[in-house]
Amino acid sequence: METIRKINYYKESLIELEKIKNSGIKPSIALHACCGPCSAYPIEFLVGYFSKVTILFDNSNIYPFEEYSRRKDELIRYVNIFNDEHNTNVEVVVFDYDNESYNEMLDEYGDMDEGLSRCFKCYRTRMENCYKYAEENGYDYFCTVMTISRQKSSQVMNKIGIDLSKKYKTKYFLSDFKKNKGIDRAREIRIEYNMYNQQYCGCIYSYNRYLKRKEKENL
Ligand code: SF4
Repeated sequence: METIRKINYYKESLIELEKIKNSGIKPSIALHACCGPCSAYPIEFLVGYFSKVTILFDNSNIYPFEEYSRRKDELIRYVNIFNDEHNTNVEVVVFDYDNESYNEMLDEYGDMDEGLSRCFKCYRTRMENCYKYAEENGYDYFCTVMTISRQKSSQVMNKIGIDLSKKYKTKYFLSDFKKNKGIDRAREIRIEYNMYNQQYCGCIYSYNRYLKRKEKENL
C-alpha cells in the first residue's frame, strides 16, 4: 500500500519566517480569511514579520446573506480592535458577494460530506481569487487562514496553494495554523473578544445539514 508522506507545514512556516527575519526586510502578505475567529490567531502569529498584512474576505460560499454579513462584520470588528490594541494597520478588503453563481458552481458536486471534492473546489476557488488579487496588488506573499480549521486538511490546502503558486510571482506562504496550540489560542481569543462563533462551514449544503442537526437535537 502506498504511504502518503505528510508534510509538517507548521515547521515550513517557521523556516520561512526565520528566512524573512534574517533578510532584514519585512515583506507584505495578503491573507485569505473565511471569518474572524479563524483569522485572529494567524494575524497574531504573522503580524510582527510583515510590513503590511491585508485580510481578503472573499466568501461567496456563505449562505444566507445575513450569515455572510455577520461573519464579515465580526471580522472587521475584531481587526479594528486588534489594530487599536497593537498599534498596527491590518487592513480588510471585502470582495463582491455572489452566492448565486457560487452555488451554481457547487451544484455540480451536490450534497456530500464536508472535506471532499466539493470542498476542494470551494477552497481553490476562493484561494485563487485572492491569490490573483495578491499578485495584481504587488504582495510578496499570499496565504490562507483556513489551515487553522480542524475540519480542513492543511495537507490539501497547502497543496492547492503550492499548485496555484506556479502561476504567480507572489510567493505562497506554507502554514498550519492549528499546530503548536494555534487552535487553543484561537479559541482563547474568540472567548476573550466575545466573537460570533458560526455553527456551520458556509455553503447551503452545510447550512441544511446544520438545520437537520438542530432539528434532531430538539426532538
Ligand atoms: S462545506 Fe465549507 S468548504 Fe465545503 S463546500 Fe461548503 S462552504 Fe465550501
